[in-house]
Formats: sequence, C-alpha cells, structure tokens
Amino acid sequence: VCVVGGGPTGLALSALLSRHGVASATLERRDAPSTHPRAHFVNARTMEVFRGVDGDLARACVDDAPALAQWRWFRYATSLTNGAALGAVDQFDGATTARTKASPTHSTHFSQHKLTRALMRRAREAHAEGASGVIEDARVEEVRADAEGVTVRAEVGAGGGTLEIRAEYCVVADGANSETRTRLGIAMRGKRDLQRLVNVHFKSRDLANDLVDDPAMLYFVFNPDAVVVVVAHDLREGEFVAQIPYLPPVQDASDFTRAVCERILRSAIGWRDGETSKKLEILDVRAWTMSAEVSETFRAGERVFLAGDAAHRFPPSGGFGMNTGIQDAHNLAWKLAAVTRGLSSPKLLQTYESERRPVALRNTALSVENFEAVLKIPTALGLPPIAANALRDVVSGLPSVIPSSMRKTILEAGLAVGRAQCGSLLTADNPIGAARRAAVKRMCDDPQGTLRLQFPKEDVGFSYEPADADGLARLHEPGTLRVGVRVPHAWMQTTRGELSTLDLVDEDVTGPRFTVFARGFDDIQEDTLSEPGGFPMRLVRIVDSPTDSPSAAFDAYGAWFKKTNHLGTKSLVLVRPDAHVACITSDPSEVVVALREASSSPAKNH
Ligand SMILES: Cc1cc2nc3c(=O)[nH]c(=O)nc-3n(C[C@H](O)[C@H](O)[C@H](O)COP(=O)(O)OP(=O)(O)OC[C@H]3O[C@@H](n4cnc5c(N)ncnc54)[C@H](O)[C@@H]3O)c2cc1C
Repeated sequence: VCVVGGGPTGLALSALLSRHGVASATLERRDAPSTHPRAHFVNARTMEVFRGVDGDLARACVDDAPALAQWRWFRYATSLTNGAALGAVDQFDGATTARTKASPTHSTHFSQHKLTRALMRRAREAHAEGASGVIEDARVEEVRADAEGVTVRAEVGAGGGTLEIRAEYCVVADGANSETRTRLGIAMRGKRDLQRLVNVHFKSRDLANDLVDDPAMLYFVFNPDAVVVVVAHDLREGEFVAQIPYLPPVQDASDFTRAVCERILRSAIGWRDGETSKKLEILDVRAWTMSAEVSETFRAGERVFLAGDAAHRFPPSGGFGMNTGIQDAHNLAWKLAAVTRGLSSPKLLQTYESERRPVALRNTALSVENFEAVLKIPTALGLPPIAANALRDVVSGLPSVIPSSMRKTILEAGLAVGRAQCGSLLTADNPIGAARRAAVKRMCDDPQGTLRLQFPKEDVGFSYEPADADGLARLHEPGTLRVGVRVPHAWMQTTRGELSTLDLVDEDVTGPRFTVFARGFDDIQEDTLSEPGGFPMRLVRIVDSPTDSPSAAFDAYGAWFKKTNHLGTKSLVLVRPDAHVACITSDPSEVVVALREASSSPAKNH
C-alpha cells in the first residue's frame, strides 16, 4: 500500500498496516515533521486505537501530556493575566480523572507535533527494518491507477530525482489542501471559508508563570485591542498558539507581521505597554482558512482512497479533525489487509466510504455547531461577528479610489471602536456591562451554553449502521451493545491479568482477525464457529468464575453479563478487527454465515 502524506492520518495508517502484516510506503513532502502545533485533543477512541497498535505509544500520549488540572478549563476574560474574568467552564465537571466507565483509556491533551514525532519515529524504524515505513522529502506529483494496481510518482528532495512506487492500493492523506485529491478531480462539498485566521505559535515562560493559578486549555480574550483565542499547548513548557481572526479582502494575512502579532498578544495577555521585563518569543505565524467540507466521495475508482483532512476539513472547535482522520485509518487498515492478503474480496473496501463518510458528515455538522457556540460569547458581549463582517463588507464596497491601506485603517478603526465600547462596558461598573457579564456567566454555568470538549456519543458511540436520512452516522450511548457500534468495554480477568474486551480484540494480532465473545457456551470450539480457510477468528469464552484457560475471560464485575443478559443465558457477539460489532446472536450458524460474508462481500454490519 502506498500512503500519500505523513501527517497523523498517514502515519497512523502506516502503523496499523504494519500491525496487520501489510508492507507500506508513506511518502511525505517535508524533510522533517512540522513543529507547528495544531490539534491537541486526542479523544478516547483514538487513544483506544493507539492502545491496540502499541501500548508504548498510548502510554507516551498520557505520560508526556500535561496533567488534567492543567487543561480541564476553558476561560473567558478581558485578558489572560490581569483582566476581568468573565467565566470559566470545567470541562470535566469536577471529576478527578478524564477516565470514564466507557473506555479502558481516556482522552488527553497531547499536541499534534509531538504525536506526529512519536508516530514518525516508529515509521522510520519500520522503514529501516524493511519495506514498510516513511520516505521523507518526497512530494507526490501523480497517482495513476490501472486494473492491476497504482503507480505513484514523487519528486524527491533537491535534485533527488523521481521516485516511482507501484502498489496494490493507494491512500491519499495529504491534508486539507490535498493536491492529490484535486488532481483526481474529486470535489469538496459544504461551506468554504467560514473564517480566516492567523495562528501565532509562541513560547513564553513568563506567561506560563503568570497563569500558574489559572491553568486552562483555551483562553478566550475580548478587550479593546484584541479578540483572540489562546491555546495553551503545554503550560509546563510555556508553549502557546494564539488564533487571531482577520477579515479579507480588506485585511490580509501579511498584515499580521511579527510586530503586529506581538502587540496583539501583549494586550491579550494583559502586559502593560512598555512592559519589557516579560518576554515572549514568536516562533511562527501561519494563516489558515476554516471550512466545513466533506469530499463528494472517499475513493477514486477501486484502488485509491481518501482519508483524514484530504477527505474532510472542518472547524477545530470540539477537536475532531485529527481524531476523525486516525479513525478513518483504523477503519481502512484491516480492510486493506484482508483484501491484500486474499482473505476478503475487494468489495469489502467499498464499505470504507459507506461507513466513514457518514461519520465525517456527522463530525462536520457537530464542529459547525461548536463553532457557532464559540460565537455566542462575543455576541453576548456586544461584539457580534456579524457586525464585523458587515463593516468589512461596507469597507470593501468603498469606491476604488480609496487605497487599500486606507480601507484597512477604516476597518481597523471601526473594529477598534466596537472592541473599545465593549471593553469599557465590561470593566466599568455600569448596568450594561453588568448585564453582559451576567449573560456570559449564565452561558458558562449552562452545560450546553458554550463550547464543550466532551462528546461521548460522537467519540465512542458512532455507528457503522446505514446512515440516517441526512446521511449522518447514527449515534448511541457509549457502552451500547449493538451491531455497527464499537464493542462495549468491560474489564475481564484472564490468565494474562485484567484486560478490557477491547484488549482481547487487539491482543496478539498479526493480521486481520475477528473475535467472538461467547457467554453460556462453555464447551464451544472455534471450529464450530468458523470454516476451514475462512476469515481468521478468535474465540473468547466469557465465564462466571475464575479460570486458568487462556481462551476464557472471567467476567468478575458482571459488566458483560449486564450488557448481554437480555439476550438470554447464551450469547455470541462477533466483533470485527476494528472492534465494531458485526453480529449478535445465540445461534453459532449465524456466526459462521457472518464470517463467510466477511470473506466474500461487504462487512456485515446490520
Ligand atoms: C488551529 C487548529 C487546531 C486544531 N485542533 C484539533 C484538535 O484539538 N483535535 C483534532 O482532532 N484536530 C484538530 N485540528 C485538526 C487537525 O490538525 C487536522 O485534522 C489533522 O492535521 C489532519 O491530519 P492529516 O494527517 O489528515 O493531515 P495533515 O496533518 O495536514 O498531514 C498531511 C501531510 O501530507 C503532507 N503532504 C501534503 N501534500 C503532499 C504531497 N503532494 N506529497 C507528499 N506529502 C504531502 C503534508 O506535508 C502533511 O505532513 C486542528 C486544526 C487546526 C488548524
């Protein structure tokens, strides 16, 4: 398999393919991983995927991440360090841990550039050992499929010449502005250009020290000089990214020079003009466009697939972008492995689009809702984004004799008046300011009132059943036992210690394999459930007392019993290699049929 793009999606796919014994080459145009932080929230389902790939990777994401106390809050204020606090939301509602009953692991706050470095290290090591791995400094220029395979052509480094790779399949994971998708003629559908922003990546130990008593993941700042969101990527290291919106065509990203950004940042932080003893270092300023789009299809013909941001790009609010990409890779990896190893017919690959596109549409819709939730606060404060856009439209409609520098000045003056009025109202002791502050506080106190971080149903409850009437993935409560949904997590005692049902699905995997959890079938054997030469399957007998059988698991806490008791004393739950349930029955012959279908046709999921 050839993977285009070594971002989190491509590198996760590379790791998952290796685990299934499939050789792959990942081509990445950069000669070293990006150091610019983007995503930072890794949700529980992604952590489960990592736990299945490599316990060390999952542990590193937790051990190297800041403690929960450092990132559980979203704060709203007129400045980060010395302004009026407008509100704060504890995204974990007082809980002492990010853990929930629904998962053997938990979400974490681990920046994308660190995660990418960890994934890249694994991929480089794999490359050094054999055919799989990553080839850096290789920009893909062409992907051409024919009946037998795919030819991928890349330009390598300065003067490195052309590299041509022949593969059975190609996965395009080259990001939101995917050149390969454009070349393949695949269009994006949805809303483009919701907002333009510059991201300012900066380091400041002084700021981290000033925030010791008010740690947060996100700080939303509204004051006369700045309307900014600051992401604290790592308060221990003083690493931050500020997101500053701008309004084209009157404003341009190039207006945000380092000097301009530093002035805005100092005001957002609340350091006085001329305060030189406090330092911040701007590392990078990058412009980006927020859109909410999903590609019209996730494949080009039978051999080329899109994954990650190349297939969907949406607002970062809610933190679903990277997570959705990694979970695309998880859905696709076992199917590619099953087909390339001759276990399934190529038809299985068609289910990638029918299962993942509805999830992408669902997460896009949620991220837009979240973005709108973010806008509620400035609106309540008297800074409605709609007014800024209207002012921009008026200014850009001014006669062309007015030079662009003057338009910028007029726009900035208009925006500054709005911010100044808002700022003085917020800090002064007057009825309007008090009413606005009270409105923001009410929003922060209401669990649905502002941007949230936790979305348990979207995180682990999405289903691969046929989509709803709007084409969106169906959602269920985490822990629901249902065909199409990821199997419920339950702790089991085994001869190898306490393991989750999810661990039992991933344990000792060397290729794609289904798992059957059998309760009440004490004497059942694997050959009763599978046919010779059929799709590999592992039987786990769930028993009600301690066991010394390696193929049995003791349901010591009765968690599996609770999930399956309504099915009667006997139940068989067939689980796909990606942990989604394929079949629930008490009749062994139905398991045989479901496994036969997995070998010959689309994965049975309803
Ligand atoms: C400000 C911000 C905050 C975010 N916060 C979150 C968050 O908290 N949680 C979350 O889940 N998501 C978040 N996201 C989204 C997340 O960053 C993306 O969804 C994620 O990077 C997608 O990963 P990817 O591997 O699909 O694409 P990318 O990360 O864009 O990787 C694509 C790779 O392909 C390479 N490439 C491009 N063209 C070629 C070519 N022709 N040949 C070879 N290689 C090529 C690129 O160099 C790049 O390395 C955020 C995004 C932004 C902008």
